[in-house]
Amino acid sequence: MAEVKVLIEGWTNADTKAEGEDETTCCTTCLITDDNLKIVTDPGVLADQKIMTDALAKENLSVNDITHVFLTHSHIDHYRNIGMFPNAKTVEYWGLWDGAKTWDRPEKLSDNIDIIETPGHNYDGLSLIVNTNEGKVAIVGDVWWKEDYPETDPYASDPEKLNKSRKKVLELANYIIPGHGKLFKVEK
Ligand SMILES: [Zn+2]
Repeated sequence: MAEVKVLIEGWTNADTKAEGEDETTCCTTCLITDDNLKIVTDPGVLADQKIMTDALAKENLSVNDITHVFLTHSHIDHYRNIGMFPNAKTVEYWGLWDGAKTWDRPEKLSDNIDIIETPGHNYDGLSLIVNTNEGKVAIVGDVWWKEDYPETDPYASDPEKLNKSRKKVLELANYIIPGHGKLFKVEK
């Protein structure tokens, strides 16, 4: 079984900011461990890169230990810090990258980690479905920003596809880690 940890819990004040207040955002970054794989998801915007290195240090890891970076979609708040991991391959919608080398996108990262397409927030949306001892955990980027928010995504590239993606994730997962909030349970 694989293990999922929220390394950095994301937020957005889009739903709470006062009129005229700046919108601030930070995406949720996860660490997935499975055998020799150490995968970081969505290394996004950070006030300081030390936030990432400190979070990894708590897991006895450094940026050099990360084998893969996975991007849920190509919005900068989800990939700003992709360059922090010198030994990592990158998996995104367009493929798998190792330095300048590129291959087709795989369908899984291991027997416990499936990659599925979840378009709608953006056309290049991907999610991971991870088999853990607690059940299936879905890392979905902005398919949900937070639990129950937004009900209708104002930035959705295709609201109909987004609804289909949400339905697919709800069927597959026991827990969801959204793009800008904490893990929540799927009530079956
Ligand atoms: Zn986002």
